[in-house]
Amino acid sequence: MAKYIFVTGGVTSSLGKGIIAASLAKLLQSRGLRVTIQKFDPYINVDPGTLNPYEHGECYVTEDGAETDLDLGHYERFLNIYTSQANNVTTGRIYQTVINKEREGAYLGKTVQVVPHITDEIKRRMLELGKTGQYDVVLTEIGGTVGDIESLPFVEAVRQLQWELPEEDTAVVHLTLIPYLKAAKELKTKPTQHSVKMLSQEGVHPDVIVCRTERPLTPDLRRKIGLFCNVKQEAVIEAADAPTIYEVPLAMMREKLDLICLKKLNITDYKEPELTKWKEFLDKLNYPKSKVTIGLIGKYLELQDAYKSILEAFIHAGAVNECQVHVVNVHSEFITDDNVAEKLSGLDGLLVAPGFGHRGVEGKITAVKYARENGLPFFGICLGMQMAVIEFARNVLGLKDAHSTEMNPDTSEPVIDLMDEQKNITAKGGTMRLGAYPCDIKPGTLAYGIYEKETVSERHRHRWEFNNKYLGQFERSGMVASGKNPGSNLVEIMELTNHPFFIGVQYHPELKSTVESPAPLFVHFIAAAKKFDEKKNEAKSALSDALAH
Ligand code: GLN
Repeated sequence: MAKYIFVTGGVTSSLGKGIIAASLAKLLQSRGLRVTIQKFDPYINVDPGTLNPYEHGECYVTEDGAETDLDLGHYERFLNIYTSQANNVTTGRIYQTVINKEREGAYLGKTVQVVPHITDEIKRRMLELGKTGQYDVVLTEIGGTVGDIESLPFVEAVRQLQWELPEEDTAVVHLTLIPYLKAAKELKTKPTQHSVKMLSQEGVHPDVIVCRTERPLTPDLRRKIGLFCNVKQEAVIEAADAPTIYEVPLAMMREKLDLICLKKLNITDYKEPELTKWKEFLDKLNYPKSKVTIGLIGKYLELQDAYKSILEAFIHAGAVNECQVHVVNVHSEFITDDNVAEKLSGLDGLLVAPGFGHRGVEGKITAVKYARENGLPFFGICLGMQMAVIEFARNVLGLKDAHSTEMNPDTSEPVIDLMDEQKNITAKGGTMRLGAYPCDIKPGTLAYGIYEKETVSERHRHRWEFNNKYLGQFERSGMVASGKNPGSNLVEIMELTNHPFFIGVQYHPELKSTVESPAPLFVHFIAAAKKFDEKKNEAKSALSDALAH
């Protein structure tokens, strides 16, 4: 039924394996094949939900509420498909399944071992999506670097699958680095040779070698890599640094990565790549007509990966608006009443990011107040919405002690409170309100103007919520709930009625933004920032005109 492509990585991490895998998947999809893509991660956490973003970047949440690796975000953004729990598997999850089975007695007294029991479970999951009959090709990205102790069982599983399945049902793409040595003025192939050797020692031979490089690979170099690594010269692919990740599918198409894989898999029924929409998006991205500056307030700002989906959603929304979105990091811990105007000067919009814990919260609230009072477009996501609610309660409703019980469990005005279903939960992993929930939108509101729909579905990852006890008070004073969960009445969207653009959402709209369907909230936020910028410039030129006369 389905064919399988495995993508491994050598030499070092951070080579962009996820992007290469997603690009290959995109090309195959553009040729009319039904494609999905999954990631196998060698760490022992059952999922990345409990990982600090500093460790592993953002935790990406799927429709079905799985907390997954951020590469799944790339897969969805590139392919415009939904992934699920089945698309991200860790060593922890594999072991958990095997150990649970052992406890049930399912192994009938056998000694449970890495081979065959762990590798069998890995293989079962590698084939699972392919067996649904929904896909022609399943790409599997193996996390980590070949040669790591942790990735051994995964490579062993690939080896066994290659042996078990017909020759033309599997292909292995190995991504490596060709470093440039400045002093020698040379690209060096030795690390690649070693990493392919290591992979071969583990029993897997690559069909394609994709070489990350800062300089073009000459035909001689390709020949040398091919010869020493025992792959055909045309299967040595150059992956040069690209100005944006969205260029990579086109670069891989020029290198014929897709055709080489199709040939290995003996797939003959495919068409010319259909990438019109993709190219239109790239054109708009590369030739913006205007520019806005957005302040991103969060606490993991040193690490770009921590807010990956938000940054990508800005890129999608910027392209729609033909506007370059310049995102600047604003550290909330250093914002005070005295410096807020200066810290936020020059911004055309403010986004308060999702987050957990009390660090930097007061600075966020101060920034929200500034945006509310100065007509600065404001967009709050999850914790960002909660901050907007607290600010409004304190400074407009006069509830001075207002807070979230996450930060102050003893507050007398818990405007943000733990959801009922969360109150008795103690385990941390996978226990938040996760995944897609419907949200009813109130006609006539800003949210309705943005979505142009009465019901939407967006993804969640939180434990706290707006406390409906206060809703009447908020709405009477100009902050309204424009989106609510139809079943539970949980508030999903809060917005100001007397502000050009001030909206907070309890969910994560960034998670559903893709190249082909950018998130409406981001698109409209950037449009509002553009307007703000235009007005600012008009005011500036009016002032200079006045001074000149
Ligand atoms: N800490 C908040 C909560 O759990 C917000 C979570 C978030 O921003 N993802 O409700």
